[in-house]
Amino acid sequence: MTISSLLPFFNSFHIEKAFIPLFLFFVFLFFTFLEWRFPLRMMTEKKRYRLLKNGGYFFLNSFLGRGLFISLFLFAIEYRWYDWRDLHQQYLHFLPPLLMWLILYLCYDLFIYSWHRLNHRIDFLFAFHQLHHADRNMDVSTGLRFHPGEYFFSYAFKSIFLLALGLEIKDLFLFDSILLFFSFFQHANLKMPLSLEHFLGQIFITPRMHDIHHSIESVEMNSYFGTSFVFWDKLFRTQKPIKSQPTNQLGLSKFPETPSFLSGLFSLK
Ligand SMILES: [Zn+2]
Repeated sequence: MTISSLLPFFNSFHIEKAFIPLFLFFVFLFFTFLEWRFPLRMMTEKKRYRLLKNGGYFFLNSFLGRGLFISLFLFAIEYRWYDWRDLHQQYLHFLPPLLMWLILYLCYDLFIYSWHRLNHRIDFLFAFHQLHHADRNMDVSTGLRFHPGEYFFSYAFKSIFLLALGLEIKDLFLFDSILLFFSFFQHANLKMPLSLEHFLGQIFITPRMHDIHHSIESVEMNSYFGTSFVFWDKLFRTQKPIKSQPTNQLGLSKFPETPSFLSGLFSLK
């Protein structure tokens, strides 16, 4: 059983193909509007240029990173794995379906937390992940700024999660869509009232938290690896106190300026 089978209404509208991309597009526009009204930091780069550049990485990833890996590997698994399918139901069949999917998403978020930590621990993986951190500014478009190599290897890693739980590719796409929603939120250059940020920060990763992860200082960068929930940073002690107005510089010291579109792709040392 897939998540969308819980929602026959959305199923009939081809949830993955139409509703979710449209919803995420409006979420992106909504955060862009809020950033314009309530910015946390002054930007040193034109918004238009950032949208073009970071949006360009996103389109490249959709075809190269994710597309290449899925066409090479995931569909091959999908074709042959009927014996493994629905394995998660054997573990969690006693739960109401909605609760089961919530628990699976929590597990997925923990899995992504581990993947993010690995990206910072292993030099080979950081060579791709640095494109994301080389951004000297941060806004909602930074949530789209990933190297196709990082996408490719992340899908290799995610396939372990799929196989271990017998999930289907469209379950993964839905999980990734939820993840993208949280990625937009945590990267938003958004000055929320501190009380609201503290309230949301009990459960979710907030913009001021993720701002610390994008700091040029390595001690700060090695904190807040979470994407959706803050539980994993609390549990593994990678949490730091947030600042009402960030004073840290963003980016990587090896890139005094945000690299251009192409040099970002090819500077892998
Ligand atoms: Zn990172």
